Amino acid sequence: METITGISEIKEKLKAVRRQGNTVGFVPTMGYFHHGHEALIKKAREENDIVVISIYVNPTQFGPKEDFQSYPKDMQRDSEIASDLGVDYLFTPDTNEVYPDNYLTYVEVEKMSQVLCGKNRPAHFKGVATIVLKLLNIVQPNKAYFGLKDYQQFRIIEKMLDDLNLDIQLVAIPTVRDNDGIAASSRNAYLSYDEREQATCLFQALSEAREAFERGTESAADLIAVIQQIIDKRPLVQLEYIHVIDKQNLDPLDKVLKDKTLIALAAQVGKARLIDNIEI
Ligand code: AMP
Repeated sequence: METITGISEIKEKLKAVRRQGNTVGFVPTMGYFHHGHEALIKKAREENDIVVISIYVNPTQFGPKEDFQSYPKDMQRDSEIASDLGVDYLFTPDTNEVYPDNYLTYVEVEKMSQVLCGKNRPAHFKGVATIVLKLLNIVQPNKAYFGLKDYQQFRIIEKMLDDLNLDIQLVAIPTVRDNDGIAASSRNAYLSYDEREQATCLFQALSEAREAFERGTESAADLIAVIQQIIDKRPLVQLEYIHVIDKQNLDPLDKVLKDKTLIALAAQVGKARLIDNIEI
C-alpha cells in the first residue's frame, strides 16, 4: 500500500492506473476504523482492480460547537488495517491543500440537507457534499462506497451525483453493528460503560417499531411513540429526533409505505451524538 498526501501526486498515480485499463474503487472516510469501515473496504476490494481509500477529518462539515478538534484519530492503526485489507492507495490530504486560503466554492444539495440531521447541523451536509465531490474529482473512481448508517448522507450524495451528471456508481453498504446491536461508529469511543449500555436502546427501539409495523401498526405517530417510550426509560440517552420518512427523498410520512420507508433517529449520549435507522 502506498500512502499519498499530495493532490497532484495521487491524480498522476491514478491517471496511470486508469490508462492501464484498471477499475478504481474508492472509500472516503474520516478514519479511526471499525468494522463498518472494514465492510466498505472489503466490498471495494472484491469489486475493483485498484482500491483507494481516503482518511480526512473534514473541518467544513463540523459546526462551531462540535467535535472537530477531539475527533478520534489513529493513523498508524488505520494504515495497518487498510494494508491488511489489500488497499492499494491511502490518500491522506492536507487541509492547507484541500481548503487553501482563497477557497470559495461549496456544493449544496437543497432541501434534503435541511431535514433530519440537517436541522441541528445546518452546514453539515454542505461540508459533506463539498468534500465528497472534491475527493471524487481527485480520485475519479468507477465506484464509490458509502454506508447506510449515514442514510441521509448516502441519499444526498446520490442526488448530487445525479443532479451534477457524474458517472460514478455508488455502492451502499448495510449498517454494520457490534454484538450489542449498536451501529459501529468512531464516535462510540466517547461512550462510558453506562452510556454504551443505555445506547443499546436505540436499535432495540427501532427493531420494536419494525415489529409493531409487522403486527399491523402503520401510523408514523404510533411507531414514533413505540420508540419514544423505550428511549425515555434511559436517562443517559437524550433523543434529538425520530422521523418516519420516504427513504428515497427523505420526505416525512404519516403512514408507512411498505418497502419505501425508513425510520431514522439521532440522540445525544454523553459526548457522543449517535444516529441510527431501520428500513421498513
Ligand atoms: P466516517 O469515517 O464515519 O465518515 O465513515 C466513512 C464511511 O463509512 C461512510 O460511508 C459511513 O457511512 C460508513 N460507515 C460508518 N459506520 C458504518 C457502519 N456502522 N456500517 C456501515 N457503514 C458505516
